[in-house]
Amino acid sequence: MAETSCCSNPAYTKDTKTRKNLCRQHFCELFEKRVKKTISKYKMLAPEDHIGLGYSGGKDSTALLHFFSNVLLTKYSKNKLTLIVVDEGIKGYRESALEIIKNISMKYNFRHLIISFSELYGATLDEIVHKSHESGSSLSACAICGILRRRALNYGSHKAKVTKMATAHNLDDEAQTIVMNLLRGDTGKFKRITRTPVKRFSSLIPRIRPFVKVSEPEIVLYAHANNLEYHSVPCPYASTAMRNDIRNFLSEMENKRPSTLINIVNVHDSLSQFFTTPEITSTTYSCKICKELTTQEICPVCQLFEKIGLKVKVT
Ligand code: SF4
Ligand SMILES: [Zn+2]
Ligand SMILES: [Zn+2]
Repeated sequence: MAETSCCSNPAYTKDTKTRKNLCRQHFCELFEKRVKKTISKYKMLAPEDHIGLGYSGGKDSTALLHFFSNVLLTKYSKNKLTLIVVDEGIKGYRESALEIIKNISMKYNFRHLIISFSELYGATLDEIVHKSHESGSSLSACAICGILRRRALNYGSHKAKVTKMATAHNLDDEAQTIVMNLLRGDTGKFKRITRTPVKRFSSLIPRIRPFVKVSEPEIVLYAHANNLEYHSVPCPYASTAMRNDIRNFLSEMENKRPSTLINIVNVHDSLSQFFTTPEITSTTYSCKICKELTTQEICPVCQLFEKIGLKVKVT
């Protein structure tokens, strides 16, 4: 068995940054220390915050739930965090996740709130994707889901009265988002990526991503080190995303040249100081169709439904 550099316990893994062998306990301590450092560097949380955790039941959000429960919220009461679960209505995927989510939220004893697309939009994601294909739209299931999930999470955060919305996006996701916007030539979205929580307009709950500097393999190791139970069935639409091509490319680069991912995020961090990101967007409109506050005359959800010719209720 390989020797560790931390103590006399057997080696669990090699730290990606220092390349030193660490035992299970010291790996977890280092992981948690790095996440706490990210939270404080980007001023993600204030003591009075009530956190909404966008919870899918998958490994990343379960690892974040474990981190909040065992590291950050030990000295606070359980009403400082609410799990916000979005039920998109994806057959063969979400039903089994919801079962696991119920067990996990009981184990951690946090309140959970389920927001379903059917309740919010009057149709499941499966139905909306079907309709979109029929209309000849080239939008991927993930592009549709992304727009609808954002609204659903914001709706859930207001319902649960949270002050910050945490998601388990990790270093891999962040690097992919940066590169994706670069490749699409979308300067606006490239500039809007921010790791410090920003209230873009009054009805939008600021988002935080505490795992933004830890990689997906590190999260898997953390989840396994803590024997976490999670939902591991992949979403049937996952392979349709453009993100998939970028994920494959970046993970090949990371394997060949470690630190590729963190370099992308750090360069974006350095460039961010030149971007002006107003706390409150100067021009906001009430959507002409659903009345939701938005930066355009018609909100992205109503634009989407118009594009695919779907008359769906928007709560
Ligand atoms: S993989 Fe795509 S469709 Fe599936 S939950 Fe994620 S964003 Fe939605
Ligand atoms: Zn050790
Ligand atoms: Zn609208």
